[in-house]
Amino acid sequence: MALIVHKYGGTSMGSVERIQNVARRVAKWRAAGHRMVVVPSAMSGETNRLIALAREIQAHPDPRELDMIASTGEQVSVGLLAMALKALGTDAISYTGWQVPVRTDSAYTKARILSIDDARVRADLDAGRVVIVTGFQGIDELGHVTTLGRGGSDTSAVAIAAALKADECLIYTDVDGVYTTDPRVVPEARRLERITFEEMLEMASLGSKVLQIRSVEFAGKYRVKTRVLSSLTPPDIPLQVEANSGTLITFEEDTSMEQAVISGIAFNRDEAKITVLGVPDRPGIAFQILGPIADANIDVDMIIQNVGHDGTTDFSFTVNRSEYNKALGVLESVKSHIGAREIVGDNKICKVSAVGVGMRSHPGVASQMFRCLAEEGINLQMISTSEIKISVVVDEKYLELAVRVLHKTFGLDQA
Ligand code: ADP
Ligand code: ASP
Ligand code: MG
Repeated sequence: MALIVHKYGGTSMGSVERIQNVARRVAKWRAAGHRMVVVPSAMSGETNRLIALAREIQAHPDPRELDMIASTGEQVSVGLLAMALKALGTDAISYTGWQVPVRTDSAYTKARILSIDDARVRADLDAGRVVIVTGFQGIDELGHVTTLGRGGSDTSAVAIAAALKADECLIYTDVDGVYTTDPRVVPEARRLERITFEEMLEMASLGSKVLQIRSVEFAGKYRVKTRVLSSLTPPDIPLQVEANSGTLITFEEDTSMEQAVISGIAFNRDEAKITVLGVPDRPGIAFQILGPIADANIDVDMIIQNVGHDGTTDFSFTVNRSEYNKALGVLESVKSHIGAREIVGDNKICKVSAVGVGMRSHPGVASQMFRCLAEEGINLQMISTSEIKISVVVDEKYLELAVRVLHKTFGLDQA
């Protein structure tokens, strides 16, 4: 008898019928003797609807109130799922994040989980109930409701699995695993049987929304056995078949000869680039530019400082597109202080990345990538590399083309 956490995403919870299917699946696992915790998302479209409602009243909604509103979608889901389970004769109980409680910091709309009290959940598990806990939300030190950022139910599920020392966390979604790239963009994308934790971390941080990055961080930190699989298979398929399907995140490197050099292509449409032109080329300039950006709580991704000429230099970096205008505003206010000539930006860019632990032992991946993009006439605006990834910033109109040709050039469409 194992302790298992299931997470179901918005599409999987998208209608009464789908919720009843989730209940059938969970009841099957419970009937096999497992102790079950389930973490559902809001029904698909619901979080968007709630955020849009808030924006009708305030163009830039008050973050605390926005979290109060956005968190309600998951509360509906847990209640409905508990009812669907009870209707099947499976004892179940639902909890919000603040009832557990899931404690977070106070960074509304992107809060981080600090701790999870497992006492209440354990007591219900001991009493034989399926425990259903809202994804995406928590409570801060002062009792305010917080949310964990879009896609945050993945993180709730893995964090709860870590807190309970669960045997496995199964992330049920609308694809049957992690693919070599988003199958919506490249239909030839293939499902990976396994992906290393490091690769999954890079894929998630570079924009593959199949898992929220913090969920992967939790999985790595607490060694949570995590699998991504489909919620759209018939709920009554044999448990053993289901338990071995999808993609397993592994903690060992595959050292076999067949290990692909590149495991996947990730992309991110949410990027924007800012360039500070003609700043004095002297020590401390990066700090002077990025200090105020950090003080405004804006995350910076790629950074490039060009070679100086005539005592000045240009400095570019990328931020999330939702923070583009805020970042431009911050820099305009310090422009004269840092002695910059001009601040320009471009929010019609995207980032495309090739990821693979095999890169460590195979030189020449970068040049293959750059040649392939050059042959398509795609200009590279920024480049950044790490041991297991190469990222480029390109005009967003080339996103699909770039992902498709890279997927092909690295042989990812071949089994
Ligand atoms: P959920 O609502 O279940 O959390 P998401 O929409 O957040 O589902 O994530 C699943 C989606 O992630 C898929 O429908 C797919 O379009 C997208 N996706 C992006 N990159 C990948 C990838 N490499 N493998 C699989 N799915 C991916
Ligand atoms: N409902 C939240 C969202 O749409 C959290 C999640 O689905 O993971 O972002
Ligand atoms: Mg998701």
